[in-house]
Amino acid sequence: MGTITILESTTKNPLSLMGERAGICWGSDITDPKKNYKRGLDCLQSGHGRVLEFVNVEMAIDGYSARVIREWYTHLGGAPTRLQASTRYVNYENFDYVTPHTVERSEEAKALYEETMRTVADAAKKLEHELGIPREDAAMLFPLGMSTKIVDKRNLRNLIDMSHQRLCARAYWEYRELMRDLMKALSAISEEWAYVVGHYFVPKCDVSGVCIEKKSCGRRPKAEV
Ligand SMILES: Cc1cc2nc3c(=O)[nH]c(=O)nc-3n(C[C@H](O)[C@H](O)[C@H](O)COP(=O)(O)OP(=O)(O)OC[C@H]3O[C@@H](n4cnc5c(N)ncnc54)[C@H](O)[C@@H]3O)c2cc1C
Repeated sequence: MGTITILESTTKNPLSLMGERAGICWGSDITDPKKNYKRGLDCLQSGHGRVLEFVNVEMAIDGYSARVIREWYTHLGGAPTRLQASTRYVNYENFDYVTPHTVERSEEAKALYEETMRTVADAAKKLEHELGIPREDAAMLFPLGMSTKIVDKRNLRNLIDMSHQRLCARAYWEYRELMRDLMKALSAISEEWAYVVGHYFVPKCDVSGVCIEKKSCGRRPKAEV
């Protein structure tokens, strides 16, 4: 659906970097890459989460809905930061938007959905060009389903925590897809990333062994309260 581009400044080998940073404090030999890797892995497996915060991830996220990006912004831990495409000055006359799979599957629903989006675009155009309404005001019409673009920077600890929430079957479907796209993009960087993603990017029920959601999907037994 959308695209995630991992930017150059992203840490290439997260485990080695974590091991190197921890090694400084432990007075260890940080000139040996193998020892750094092993130390980083030990930190991860032992749940020493603070070292995860040294692993930087910077990415361009494009083509997902403004709605899912609004949810993305709720993950505040570790003070992430981001830039977002302007919602005031971008030309939205023929704006792109996300079409849910449920709508895609029904011809009638798809026709109505597309017609509504066209109506919104036409109205915005008329407001601005025929009725003299400033673009930033006409843009109030645009739906959360419109696609947007952000540049985002956060750390590994934040992303692992995010995966616990957003790989859960209760999370919004587009966010679950976004998480999968992100996991694929990160795994492609290096074997170390593939290991971290494969073992630590999991829904929260895999961490605790039980489900704490009110409406459980049944993947894990319900937690006793
Ligand atoms: C199924 C589902 C439904 C949802 N529905 C809604 C909804 O209706 N409305 C809505 O607004 N949101 C909703 N959310 C979003 C949810 O409430 C959280 O905002 C989102 O999961 C991000 O918060 P977080 O704690 O998971 O992550 P982060 O904010 O990244 O926090 C990660 C961890 O860091 C620590 N931390 C972060 N900030 C602080 C702090 N200020 N002080 C101390 N410790 C901190 C905590 O240990 C926290 O668990 C929903 C999420 C899901 C998965």
